[in-house]
Amino acid sequence: MTSDTSAVTILVPGRLHDHAAKRVDGAFRMVRLQRADAGLVTGAMAESVRGIAAMTTIDAAFIDALPNLEIIANFGVGYDAVDARHAGKRGVMVTNTPDVLTEEVADTALGLLLNTVRELPKAEAWLREGRWVRDGAYPLTGTTLRGRRAGIFGMGRIGLAIARRLEAFGLPVAYHNRSRVEAVAYDYHPTLLGLAGAVDTLISVAPGGAATDKAVGKEVLEALGPNGVFVNIGRGSTVDEAALATALANGTIRAAGLDVFANEPHVPEALLDAPNTSLLPHVGSASKHTREAMADLVVDNLLAWFGEGRPLTPVPETAGVAAKQR
Ligand code: NAP
Repeated sequence: MTSDTSAVTILVPGRLHDHAAKRVDGAFRMVRLQRADAGLVTGAMAESVRGIAAMTTIDAAFIDALPNLEIIANFGVGYDAVDARHAGKRGVMVTNTPDVLTEEVADTALGLLLNTVRELPKAEAWLREGRWVRDGAYPLTGTTLRGRRAGIFGMGRIGLAIARRLEAFGLPVAYHNRSRVEAVAYDYHPTLLGLAGAVDTLISVAPGGAATDKAVGKEVLEALGPNGVFVNIGRGSTVDEAALATALANGTIRAAGLDVFANEPHVPEALLDAPNTSLLPHVGSASKHTREAMADLVVDNLLAWFGEGRPLTPVPETAGVAAKQR
């Protein structure tokens, strides 16, 4: 194995965090491409590219257009935009950026929950619009965190950090995963429907992808019930947004707080127009501090792979992929 990586070509398709791009450029031979489109890959790129640093969709065709590709370093813990299964079949490593964003995203989740339940953005707008002077106090909120029972869909790294915060707020916590987490004492529900029926505050932090596609739909929202609050800090694809908009409009649930959407940056009109939603533009991890830590982990994965032949944070689908002997 060699630790001089300056001759290794890393492709950056589309936008990349500046700090990551600077470090890639300093340590490797960086090549940029307008977007991750197999049709744009030149012969020289196909020949030379051994790694990708990306915060965009990487599909099977793009992976196949790069025969010497060894690793895809994804910016973000969620890697549903990367065809990791196909990468694994092709012997290509995929890495993500877990842990370094966990606490930030959990902070945002609690902020979003409070915004939704206590209407803090609307109360601030009331003050700024001069209505406190003109009309008096902001109306009392119909919803509160007091007495709520919280359920977490996706009790992983971020789910656990959210659960700890909810405990500090005095709320009982239950969860649904495909498998029980032995290390925690929270109530486990083997089905999402069962969890939704047992709580009135459902927080989704499950990954995107086929297995969770539109998992939160009409049935789950009905089970959550008329006092129900739904918060999504995971992926927009896990929610049937049309069913959510209907549930909010007809009182099936009370309110929703959303940081993520199915077709970002586009937000369905029905969710924008609903009076009982609090909406954020996917800012879960979006502080300079945390995004820089994520950028470092992207590049550190590339350096570890090409320097030492091992990634720092491989995704499960490619955990068995071995580095080529050099
Ligand atoms: P993680 O540690 O892998 O946790 C994911 C949890 O989801 C696991 O406990 C897993 O348990 C559960 N899960 C996965 N597939 C499931 C399924 N089909 N049904 C039920 N449960 C399932 O990941 P993390 O670091 O906590 O991140 C979670 C997600 O948060 C990311 O994938 C990303 O999409 C999202 N995220 C959003 C933002 C934002 O800015 N809004 C920022 C960072 C991350 P089982 O395997 O036992 O099912």
